Amino acid sequence: MQTKTSIVATLGPASSTAAIMEPLVRQGVSVFRLNFSHGTFQTHAQTLEQISRVRGVLPYEIAVMGDLCGPKIRLGQVEPNTVLAADAVVTLSVGDGVGNAAHLTTDCVALAGDVRAGHRILIDDGQIVLSALEKSAAGIRCKVLVGGPVSSRKGINLPDTLLSIQPITEKDWQCVDWAIENKLDYLALSFVQKADEIRRLKEYLASRGSRIRVVAKIEKPLAVENIESIIHASDAILIARGDMGVEMDLAQVPLVQKKITALCRRFARPAIVATQVLQSMIENPSPTRAEATDIANAVMDNADAIMLSGETAVGKHPLAAVAALSHICTTTERFLDASGHPRSRMDTAPELAAKAAIARAVGDMLDEVKVACIVVSTQTGQLAGLLSKVRVDVPIVSLSADTGLARQLALCYGMVSVGYPAAGSYEQWIDGVETLLRKNRWAQKGDTVLLIPPLAVLSKKTRSALVLHTVE
Ligand code: ATP
Ligand code: MG
Ligand code: MG
Repeated sequence: MQTKTSIVATLGPASSTAAIMEPLVRQGVSVFRLNFSHGTFQTHAQTLEQISRVRGVLPYEIAVMGDLCGPKIRLGQVEPNTVLAADAVVTLSVGDGVGNAAHLTTDCVALAGDVRAGHRILIDDGQIVLSALEKSAAGIRCKVLVGGPVSSRKGINLPDTLLSIQPITEKDWQCVDWAIENKLDYLALSFVQKADEIRRLKEYLASRGSRIRVVAKIEKPLAVENIESIIHASDAILIARGDMGVEMDLAQVPLVQKKITALCRRFARPAIVATQVLQSMIENPSPTRAEATDIANAVMDNADAIMLSGETAVGKHPLAAVAALSHICTTTERFLDASGHPRSRMDTAPELAAKAAIARAVGDMLDEVKVACIVVSTQTGQLAGLLSKVRVDVPIVSLSADTGLARQLALCYGMVSVGYPAAGSYEQWIDGVETLLRKNRWAQKGDTVLLIPPLAVLSKKTRSALVLHTVE
């Protein structure tokens, strides 16, 4: 079975065929990420087609998350093997020519107007540092403070510059429409600063009849300041440590991760930890000690999901990276399960209070009774999502008649999510569930399981039930 911590894998040239995706899923991936910063609608459509093949052979659902670029500034194309030398001078201009060590391009029009002399211009999550000298007709002349290799479409950060750009760009709206048409399960919005930006996107999705869930990528200092309202407005949170590490003091990144994962637990939203998780495995077949420790710490911080970027998109060892991540997560999860998870009260919306109480009661119950798994039938995903946050030590098999919802639940910690119709009598439902559990070895004859049946099979006067059942 999968790891409890969900693994999000970014797809790219190293991983966009079903022949690679299927083993990635078998090793533990439950969410695939399409980054709209790279590739085209055509390549993403081909990738989706490969994903649907993989879905066809799986006994449970996986999710697809589209990542909107937001106002991320990027370099244009760059000649292969371009290296910027320290102390050299390079001109940065708005346009779409192919750049080199003397002249780089970007498509961000606002950059030319807003950058002032002395402002830092960081490239590739801050690996390269330029300082603006002066503006001329040819562009911004910059001195290279820290040099190194640069390649096409690498990100640019301007920590000193106040930029006059839209939080959701024209290109983002095109990607949103594409995501709706192609029925993606999640959309992540980059460089969020205020809850309003999330609400605006959600309103648009609703107006188009789409139920795509929205993930806020936290990478700006202002987003950290507004974190509670952003969490309330969002369906999930992505801690984007790459841009965060250049947009604010790097030493704040681990603290922000702890703060956000704790808040996400309190407010019952999935938290995804991302960036440089297994960076060394882009080249190497095994992780560093520091990477292993970072992953274990993320699990201990109660992250619900951990994301791989370049490791699976362009790395040399995508499968080994997922296997390493999965092994480290599982080892940490077993340790936490054995030592007992502290249960804290969840601050949920008043209308979720009853479901939150049931979820906590299930956690307490499982401290006393040993079960093979929980089976929860879910119509809205709320109870299943809350159960995931309780951190029970057995898998949660969620059954939803709505395949779209089942796919979305694949992001939750500890969830095995199945599209499953709820029809017939209580007895018929039990029989069907037993067959499903035995067939997939999620439980076997003689095991006790905790069942939360759908309303449709309960007597009319019963609104909810927790059933301890022995599999026959
Ligand atoms: P973001 O800030 O949204 O994470 P990113 O540029 O860091 O953007 P990632 O998805 O994190 O992108 O991937 C890491 C690196 O892998 C990218 O910088 C890029 O060089 C490469 N990459 C990712 N996806 C693709 C793709 N589809 N095609 C080509 N290269 C890709
Ligand atoms: Mg980013
Ligand atoms: Mg990245």
